[in-house]
Amino acid sequence: MKKEHLPQKICPICSRPFTWRKKWERVWDDVKYCSERCRRNKQKALTKATS
Ligand SMILES: [Zn+2]
Repeated sequence: MKKEHLPQKICPICSRPFTWRKKWERVWDDVKYCSERCRRNKQKALTKATS
């Protein structure tokens, strides 16, 4: 696999692009956030929005 053409997504929490990582190779379709921190922020935001 060539390094220069890795897929990218935009994190909806921090609005930053993040690049495919080896650890995501099996779950890339399900990856929505750039980091564990943003994933937690999303949960926090959801809780806030529904309360
Ligand atoms: Zn993020």
